[in-house]
Amino acid sequence: MAADDTDRSTPSPLSIALASVLERARPKTSGAVASYIPELALEDPDQLGIALASVRGTVHEAGDSDAEFTIQSVSKPFVFALALEQSGLAEVTRHVGLEPSGEPFNAISLDEHTGRPLNPMINAGAIVTSSLVRGDRADEKFSVISAGLSAFAGRSLDVDEAVFASEQATGDRNRALAYLARSAGTLASTAEVATTAYFRQCSLTVTARDLAIMAATLANGGVNPITRERVVSEDVARWTTAVMTSCGMYDASGEWLVRVGLPAKSGVGGGIAALQPEQFGIGTFSPRLDARGNSVRGVAVLEELSERHGLHMLEHREAPLSPIDEISVGGASSDEVAGDEVVAMLRGDLNFGNVEEVLTRLMPLLESEGRLVLDFGAVTRVGAPAVRLLLWAADAAGPAPDGLPRVELRDPDGVLDVDLAG
Ligand code: GLN
Repeated sequence: MAADDTDRSTPSPLSIALASVLERARPKTSGAVASYIPELALEDPDQLGIALASVRGTVHEAGDSDAEFTIQSVSKPFVFALALEQSGLAEVTRHVGLEPSGEPFNAISLDEHTGRPLNPMINAGAIVTSSLVRGDRADEKFSVISAGLSAFAGRSLDVDEAVFASEQATGDRNRALAYLARSAGTLASTAEVATTAYFRQCSLTVTARDLAIMAATLANGGVNPITRERVVSEDVARWTTAVMTSCGMYDASGEWLVRVGLPAKSGVGGGIAALQPEQFGIGTFSPRLDARGNSVRGVAVLEELSERHGLHMLEHREAPLSPIDEISVGGASSDEVAGDEVVAMLRGDLNFGNVEEVLTRLMPLLESEGRLVLDFGAVTRVGAPAVRLLLWAADAAGPAPDGLPRVELRDPDGVLDVDLAG
């Protein structure tokens, strides 16, 4: 297992908070362990675990966070990410759509015009996604999938051969979905190759801790926060997270988005992976499922966590601190610069909204003869699009009569030196 900052001998305050949420959910014993894959029915239904991995690489855990179970459908977003990384969004979406289906995970889902399954988070779409992964044979595709999912987890994941055999023996509905996609022209391999790779992918074993790190890798823009390996690009991480947001909980996705508000994916093995972009990933494990195939206690735990700690991705944050810390007029104009010089000290992270505030409030202070200095000394981060907007605005202001730029971007720490190509 990869090294990290976790000291498991002294529970962190966060682990204690996680444990208390688990205890609230523990009495919920409704639902049933999946049995349509017979081997899954052998799982101990009382297991309950959670882990939270921050994008800075700290992991907090409570309960059965190290218990192994099969990843099942939680593999779907990660294999989708691998397919996107390999072939790009345009090619992948020729084969599978991006629309929530509002239907159960095993629905016969093929768009009547395009022949595409509605989305990659339901079985039909996931089998098509697995068929897109590089390799002609099932074992070639699976080795790409297994290496990719292991990179997301930061450790080498193994197959539960008993669950795999059980899926193979009982997977005719999935084969039927594959044959339908094949006949519609959207499956990129034979049905046999696609379903074998898919069954093996579903039979990879993980822990709640693994799921937390896998989700945190998406939250971290595609870089595993523990190993620091870039697994997929930022664009791919964002696209994958978007599809988890709209489709990750099957026909409960809309309600989930309102109540919990975290991009997530569930599986019939009892796992759920959820994430808050730029902050953390969470993995939960509890095998009893509701009628939609989502873990009863996993859903309860994530609902409670989101509510207690204000984790909803659309949570309204109070009026943010102004990015303009201080404005001084004329004070710095001891040199020969004509007219007044306005110096504005900026601060914090400059996103689009903050740059809008800076430009809207400060540009009118620019006298026809004067200069405006934007000082980035206390700015912590500016994204490339915001830098482009600032450079464009500064350029559009043109030079002062003395030839100096009318808008100077003073950047002592080089926060504006970002890669503008991408
Ligand atoms: N392997 C399972 C199946 O194909 C995965 C389904 C799930 O986790 N929802 O039926």
